[in-house]
Amino acid sequence: MKKSTQVALDGPSGAGKSTLARRLAARLGFVYVDTGALYRTIALFMMREQAESDTEIIAKLPELNITISYENGQQHVFANGEDVSALIRTPEVSMGASRVSAIPAVRQFLFDLQRELANTHSVVMDGRDIGTVVLPDADVKIFLTASAEKRAERRFAELQEKHPDAQTYEEVLRDVIKRDEQDMNREIAPLRQAEDAVLVDTTNADLDQSEEMLFAVCREKLGL
Ligand code: C5P
Repeated sequence: MKKSTQVALDGPSGAGKSTLARRLAARLGFVYVDTGALYRTIALFMMREQAESDTEIIAKLPELNITISYENGQQHVFANGEDVSALIRTPEVSMGASRVSAIPAVRQFLFDLQRELANTHSVVMDGRDIGTVVLPDADVKIFLTASAEKRAERRFAELQEKHPDAQTYEEVLRDVIKRDEQDMNREIAPLRQAEDAVLVDTTNADLDQSEEMLFAVCREKLGL
């Protein structure tokens, strides 16, 4: 018997998933789990270890212990005890995460961690394969999307705040398209909408409007 309540939020990068998942979790009183941060942590660790091939990456996995903690509702992720939450938000790590996430052993490694979190806490979990693979019995499944241009615009604005000189808008758009392509066409756990997921398109909605759309879906599905 499942004791916790699970909300699965999937979709491509830049659809507003993490901000909206955080807001939704706060409103529902659930824990927010950003699974992209877990893939990013593996990518950062492998970059530091200079593990490049699949074989090297798989061999290094057992040396990495990922833990998570929450401060004021904010998720912090630790690689062997070091808080890497800020370090994993660079364009290089984004690309690295997309790359390592295509390796089955990496997905299996994180599968157990994600399941454990969702079975012990009521969660809003955001990612790419939460509704399809990680939590196929989630109480609510939402697939959040927006046009590539709109998503690039949002990523660019976010990046400007943290790493102002990192990339131009055109470079961000190119990366968004490339990452979509990689995430949707990989053999294992490709990004796709679960059959029983509700599609929410935020191209023409601001954050507050998007939050209301998501909350309305949860209210209906959870009978709130
Ligand atoms: O969501 P975020 O942009 O932080 O995710 C980084 C990368 O990690 C994605 O491009 C995707 O390839 C991968 N990812 C994944 N499955 C998840 C979450 C993220 O494959 N559940």
